[in-house]
Amino acid sequence: MALIRSSQAGIGMTSLRTRERMLTRLREQGIKDEVVLSAISAIPRHIFVDEALSIRAYEDVSLPIGFGQTISQPYIVARMSELLRNDQPLQKVLEIGTGCGYQTAVLSKISKEVYSVERIRPLVMKARGHLRELKCINVKLDHADGNMGLPQLAPFDAIIVTAAASHIPQDLLDQLVIGGRLVIPVGTDEQVLHLVERISQAEYRQTKLEPVKFVPLLGGTS
Ligand code: SAH
Repeated sequence: MALIRSSQAGIGMTSLRTRERMLTRLREQGIKDEVVLSAISAIPRHIFVDEALSIRAYEDVSLPIGFGQTISQPYIVARMSELLRNDQPLQKVLEIGTGCGYQTAVLSKISKEVYSVERIRPLVMKARGHLRELKCINVKLDHADGNMGLPQLAPFDAIIVTAAASHIPQDLLDQLVIGGRLVIPVGTDEQVLHLVERISQAEYRQTKLEPVKFVPLLGGTS
């Protein structure tokens, strides 16, 4: 009986209809970029969360992934991806805060190359497993403190930070191409999503977008 129930739940979760409902909701929430929407529809979110939570995988909520961290809600993954793309193809993207690798997998569909940095080693291992399962071969993960970015691989077309920073790290600004975009939540109690565009070698344009809720960007590795 239990077995039948769980396999039925599995069918429900992965069914096209469940994912289509998620896409309809994202459109209603204002996501317009069809490239992002099709990337999201191609990535099964339920494989990134523990089986006990997978029933909720297509709800628009963040969920725990262990180590006090969370998988971002689909809306924020879509919103940040849309901001990074700005309707242009991406060549090389850097993500800070791999977590379980869900956003990374979405990025792998919208960018030629993706580099993602995570400070908690077991999460790097977990994400690596998920990304391998999904055959995301254009992704490289690194166990490191992402505050410094990846200077050896810079510059990047776009940088996404999926943990809230108290300030915008200068190292990340330095690692953008001219015309490149950084999307980063900034703040402690009250966090606001920021978009920073590199206008020239020395000029950046900063736009404050909407309130968000992320785990904090910490220093060091564990
Ligand atoms: N991108 C994830 C969200 C993960 S939550 C998703 O798709 O759901 C944020 C992650 O940022 C956590 O795993 C946390 O460990 C990581 N993180 C926090 N500070 C960091 C830092 N300085 N460098 C790298 N990763 C960091």
